Amino acid sequence: MTFLMPVTINAHEKPLKYSRLDTTRVTTEVRRALQRFDSRAATWISRYTARGGKVYCAAGCFRCCDMPIRVSLAEALVVAESLTPSQFEAVEAHAERVWLNAHESRDGDEYVENHRRSVGFCPLLDRETGRCGAYEARPARCRDTYSAMPARFCAPDGLSSLRRSERRAYEQEVRTNPVMDGTSHFIAPLEDLSVPIWETCATLMRRELGFEVWGDFWTLVAYSRDERFWSALRSHSPRSVIAALKRARLYHPELVQIE
Ligand code: SF4
Ligand code: SF4
Repeated sequence: MTFLMPVTINAHEKPLKYSRLDTTRVTTEVRRALQRFDSRAATWISRYTARGGKVYCAAGCFRCCDMPIRVSLAEALVVAESLTPSQFEAVEAHAERVWLNAHESRDGDEYVENHRRSVGFCPLLDRETGRCGAYEARPARCRDTYSAMPARFCAPDGLSSLRRSERRAYEQEVRTNPVMDGTSHFIAPLEDLSVPIWETCATLMRRELGFEVWGDFWTLVAYSRDERFWSALRSHSPRSVIAALKRARLYHPELVQIE
């Protein structure tokens, strides 16, 4: 695997600093948006449970931590600046597996399935305790994924292992439960609450870079310390950024999107 350069900036010792982007200003604003989400989500959950609603997510539950996660570069910077050197190395190794999966999968469905079955759990997860090693910095997608059904439905084979009658009952529940969006058992109003985070990140990236950078969580965290990535971002348009990323062998459309 050749796309990752050695880490040259030691987490916790120096702030990340790049020529076209004030990372401290970006991460400060993203952290504020994440905190606002946490507060709104807590209020929503407390009202929902007071009315008898059930949220199955709890400390130590981690069956969803093997899902692919899409983030903005702005969120990836928040995570990157929170990691210890060994955590960062684990993310780099995971990003290499993500890269291989992106190149070997024939389509998006296969990419997701292989991610969950082969790439595996997030390296920031402590499998013994179920704790997230980047809890305070974790991205929006990790915060807004709440289940209104037990965790077994969140597993990769959670639906495929159901008997026909169970599957019908699941589909009926998803269609009729007002907090579900008709397609899955995740709580839609909590997902909607994260929209202001995405908007904040989009605005920050447009202001600092002139375009938006989105993509795979672990890939963007790993790239955040790769000077070749930042060199490519200095190009003047999304098209030229993509061309520069391709020349640097850092581009796959599943992993990085420039908008
Ligand atoms: S989304 Fe599912 S697996 Fe993840 S914490 Fe909630 S119940 Fe557990
Ligand atoms: S960052 Fe934390 S919550 Fe998100 S996938 Fe990794 S371990 Fe799970």
